[in-house]
Amino acid sequence: MRGRIGLSVALVCLGTFAIAQKAPDVSARPPERLVSAVSGDDAASGTTGELRAWVARFRDRALQEGVDGAVYDRALQDVAYDAQVVRRDRNQAEFTKTIWDYLDTAVSDVRIANGKAALQKWNGALSQIEETYGVEKEIVVAIWGLESAYGTFRGQNSVLNSMATLAYDGRRAEFFEDQLLAALRILQAGDTTKSDLIGSWAGAMGHTQFMPTSFQDHAVDYDGDGKRDIWGDDPVDALASTAAYLKHHGWTRGQPWGIEVQIADGFDYMLARRSLRKMPSEWATLGVTRPGGTAVKDYGLASVLLPGGADGAAFLVFSNFAVLESYNTADAYVVAVGHLADRIKGRSAFEHGWPRHLRVLTFDERIELQKRLTSAGYDTEKIDAKMGPLTVDAIRRFQADQGVLPDGYPSLKVLDRLRAL
Ligand code: CA
Repeated sequence: MRGRIGLSVALVCLGTFAIAQKAPDVSARPPERLVSAVSGDDAASGTTGELRAWVARFRDRALQEGVDGAVYDRALQDVAYDAQVVRRDRNQAEFTKTIWDYLDTAVSDVRIANGKAALQKWNGALSQIEETYGVEKEIVVAIWGLESAYGTFRGQNSVLNSMATLAYDGRRAEFFEDQLLAALRILQAGDTTKSDLIGSWAGAMGHTQFMPTSFQDHAVDYDGDGKRDIWGDDPVDALASTAAYLKHHGWTRGQPWGIEVQIADGFDYMLARRSLRKMPSEWATLGVTRPGGTAVKDYGLASVLLPGGADGAAFLVFSNFAVLESYNTADAYVVAVGHLADRIKGRSAFEHGWPRHLRVLTFDERIELQKRLTSAGYDTEKIDAKMGPLTVDAIRRFQADQGVLPDGYPSLKVLDRLRAL
């Protein structure tokens, strides 16, 4: 749900790992747009006059979609072009971080301590929410912590204004038109007022940064006051809405997101792909165990995840990992949510470190990596700078053919090897 302020900005910076802005359902931007995302201030060249003309043209469509004409007119009568929002939308793909740099801030000691305090403060409501939706309260709190620092940064932009600006801007017109329509419906339903309908610059709203369409599909009035209020100081509706969202996407209560594992010498790294799922007891026979050598409990089918390559921490990840990806598909985000929840629960830090000497590939290098892999016969299917499972698998196949450890990690070493072909 995202796009935002504060910590949210850190998420936006994850372009490398995946989704640009963290909104559930935010689709990846088309590659050609990514490439043009470097543009400077002149990219945001719209005017309020043109925006208002667009708003007038869009009115028929909104009315066809069930928005009341009076609601529409009042909501957008003073809309003004926001160049800053357009610039941020265009430039966010430029930032990248390694997973370890991200985790340092996302799961800092302060965030863990604040999470424990937040859990204690809202424990009654969170326990009820856990019973209602079957989603562990620590997971809900961890998302709250990452999305808004437990409600500290909920955004200050008018969502109507930002969504209208971005819909008119047109780079991702369809997505933002849908968000604008959803925001209008929120207003029409009376869940909040026009002046309180605020969020991040990208439209992510409230304690857990729901985009308007996610609000429409998943927000609940948990405290029963007749309004789904995710914006106010009381976080209960927002926390329940987040649990409802995760339940809808298939959360399994009692199953971990993932468990840190150690990988035995001689392990076949070609097996470390998300599409290959086995029970932990079977993984144990292949050399994947808890640090210390005992098998991970059979919570369900799991895949081996190596978000920092063979030299970083390794995990068995379960179907709940994929559920968290519905919030944000970046591995770093999902690992952060899961680990923050574990730490709030009192569990220990990861045993294994990260290859901190490696730097993240730049945007241009990631594009080059995908192009070189594809032309060398290791199709990444997309040239979008996102190091998703398809690119990781392509790297792995290339590494295997080169006779090096196929961990799938997009390192400079891999790129150099491709350049030397
Ligand atoms: Ca309520």
